[in-house]
Amino acid sequence: KTALFDNLSEKLGGILDRLTGRGSLSEADVDAAMREVRRALLEADVSLDVVRSFTERVREQAVGATVVKSVTPGQMVVKIVHDELIATLGSDGQTIDLNAVPPVAIMMVGLQGSGKTTTTAKLARRLTQRDKRKVLMASLDVYRPAAMEQLAVLGRDLDIQTLPIVEGQKPAQIARRALEAGKLGGYDVVLLDTAGRTTLDEEMMSEAAEIKSTANPHEVLLVADSLTGQDAVNLARAFDERVGLTGIVLTRVDGDGRGGAALSMRAVTGKPIKLIGTGEKTDALEDFHPNRIAGRILG
Ligand code: GDP
Repeated sequence: KTALFDNLSEKLGGILDRLTGRGSLSEADVDAAMREVRRALLEADVSLDVVRSFTERVREQAVGATVVKSVTPGQMVVKIVHDELIATLGSDGQTIDLNAVPPVAIMMVGLQGSGKTTTTAKLARRLTQRDKRKVLMASLDVYRPAAMEQLAVLGRDLDIQTLPIVEGQKPAQIARRALEAGKLGGYDVVLLDTAGRTTLDEEMMSEAAEIKSTANPHEVLLVADSLTGQDAVNLARAFDERVGLTGIVLTRVDGDGRGGAALSMRAVTGKPIKLIGTGEKTDALEDFHPNRIAGRILG
């Protein structure tokens, strides 16, 4: 339990602990507690719809619940909230699924600036160094030569191959070329770093959908900034509906955001958060642990 988490415990304790000895939680008690829970979630930047459905689920479990002697009513509600957060955030041990005929294509999607290119390099590094896979990276960002160059530089630093840049090709053509090169070169994994834009738009979505139907990726990972807040829901929903996601990578978890985006995106898409980015360097990629984010969200 983190200090932040104890904070909500204290607040709920203040509201509920006068009930000690009464046996079960009434609707009025639970409603008072839910106001604090709602406030904590909104402060953590969880989207409004998700806050509503979440507190409703907690409320149903809490009303009428028998308070056992060993805990205070406040502690009991905190435990219900905590367990429901974990249940919503998903299970530990989510992994990148490489269980397919090689080269396994993994497509990275997301807004510009979300950390997509950095995350592509981080994932390539992990798959190469830890999992001993032969990885090819390809930038499909034909609009920003600097982005293509950025991936090439990261590849050189890490000693991981990037697909040679050929000017004038469309993203789907580059994807096809990457998979052919992957096959010919005996690669296990081909990472496709797609172009992002600064806002959700139709062009980005239709391009991503076209790349997906060409490359038939085994994983489609949404790279999303954990500081995104209320927009996280629209972002995740749009990508999932138009392109179809298999997982989410949350970046900038090292920042001072409270992680509400994790809960929002997971609740809306049902897709697992597979990895988190915790820094600018290419070794700053970690597995996702729901209990850590839960503590942070509870504030
Ligand atoms: P892209 O436009 O989505 O490809 O974004 P980039 O990969 O170029 O990343 C944008 C900026 O965010 C760069 O300065 C990265 O170093 C930084 N960045 C990416 N991931 C993380 C992260 O997990 N933590 C921190 N602190 N910075 C990150």
